[in-house]
Parts: sequence; structure tokens; C-alpha cells
Amino acid sequence: MEIKNDRTCILSSTCFAAAATVDENGLPFSDAVELLDWDENGIYFIADRTTEFYRRLSQKGVISVTGTDGGSAGSRTVFTLRGSASELGTPFLPRLLKKSPCLEQSYPSQISRKVLTVFCISRGTGEISRSGKTEPFSFGADQEKKPRYFITDRCVLCRFCYSKCPQKCIDISHRPAVIRQESCMHCGNCYEICLARAIEKRPAE
Ligand code: SF4
Ligand code: SF4
Repeated sequence: MEIKNDRTCILSSTCFAAAATVDENGLPFSDAVELLDWDENGIYFIADRTTEFYRRLSQKGVISVTGTDGGSAGSRTVFTLRGSASELGTPFLPRLLKKSPCLEQSYPSQISRKVLTVFCISRGTGEISRSGKTEPFSFGADQEKKPRYFITDRCVLCRFCYSKCPQKCIDISHRPAVIRQESCMHCGNCYEICLARAIEKRPAE
């Protein structure tokens, strides 16, 4: 399995992840999910219809997932995504179950599998971190193009932008400061804080 958009490969194998959902009172809960497959329509996982996880997911239709590829420290990939999840039912179930020995063991018979259903996260946004770098990504209808930010010669090196940058991806060792684009999340904090109006916002290509 490989989940990626134009810049970012998010997953290269089936993985266990922590999934957060909210109940009718807005209280958050965490559960374990196994992300089993991906295609152009979204990311697929299986839920048990007798669980509170299923109930919360069905009611709200939103999910936040945090996972890792299980790699060793230094090369480990960690991602988090937020998206809309919708129930697809059982058509994909046999194919997905084959990818999960754990679920096959937990639900060994056809009768026990009657409670299982497939969900698809069809659109979402998130961040992926590896080798010390964090990149945003999006997929489905949320695959929007975000603007890019560039620092111009008007920079007076006040360093305000650096103090507000969540990625600390602005090189302030010389003037003008420089945004390391490969780590920028395009949040716009630097653009907002720059009193010298030295930062340009350019539409994504
Ligand atoms: S806030 Fe503006 S002027 Fe200050 S260092 Fe950043 S880009 Fe330069
Ligand atoms: S857009 Fe956000 S992440 Fe990118 S350099 Fe500016 S403050 Fe940092």
C-alpha cells in the first residue's frame, strides 16, 4: 500500500494506528485501527459494528489518525491525518481481511464476521514527519493547493517570523532570512507577523 499525493508518500505498508473520534458531547476517545489499503478513493479500514468506536464514527463521520511505519529511530515515519470517514459496508471486506492476520484471527468464522464493516477516509489533510522533516499533505477533496511564502530584500532580520514559525524552518543566520520550503507547512504565521511586509505570499503552482 502506498498513500501519497504529488509530494509526499504517506504510507508504504499496512499499519496500526491510533484513531481519535468524538462522541455526541464532543468528548474525544482513542481506539486502535489498522489502515489496510488505499486507492484513489481513499484509505480503508475495518470497524466492528458492535463497538462504541463504530457508533461514534457513524454519528460524526470524522476521524483523526496517528500512525507510524514502525521503522527504527532516525528513519521512522510518523504521520497524523484528519478526515471524513464514511461506511462502505461489506463489499470490500474479504479483500481487506486478507491483509490483516490479526483481524482474521479475532473474527475466524463467517458468522463472527457479520459484525464487521469497512470504512473509507475519502478526504483529509495531515502532516508527515521523517528524517527530522515535517511536510503537510492532503488527499481527496481536501487536496487543496496552499500558497507559498517567500522572504524578500525588505527583511530587516527582526526574527519575529522565526519566533512564530511552528516548524522553525526559517533560516535567520543572514539577511534576508530564508524559508526552507521543504519543511514549511504554509500556515502563514510568518506572513502575518512580519511588520516590515517583507514576506510575499504566492499562489501554489
Ligand atoms: S519578520 Fe519579516 S523582517 Fe523580521 S526576520 Fe522575518 S521576514 Fe525578516
Ligand atoms: S508559513 Fe508557517 S511554517 Fe512556513 S515558514 Fe511561515 S511560519 Fe513557518
